[in-house]
Amino acid sequence: MAEFKILHDRPVCIGCAACTAVAPETWEMNADGKADIKGCKEEGSNQVLEVNELGNNQQAAEVCPVNCIHIFQKDKKII
Ligand code: SF4
Repeated sequence: MAEFKILHDRPVCIGCAACTAVAPETWEMNADGKADIKGCKEEGSNQVLEVNELGNNQQAAEVCPVNCIHIFQKDKKII
């Protein structure tokens, strides 16, 4: 199990592209106008990526205006 799980509650995304500006190594814009996590798994309507290094993803979660990016360390929600 990886140290961190990044979860994108994609239906809530308003496509502002802030996450892609802050953490382009992880986030990209989709042609449908919403953000995607590169290389993620789909869990229902969520996108999930497990990583051992957060990189800039905590900042991406902090700048998301609708708080649809969540980060868990092990099973503890940190944002
Ligand atoms: S910052 Fe949030 S609302 Fe904006 S594109 Fe990224 S996930 Fe969507």
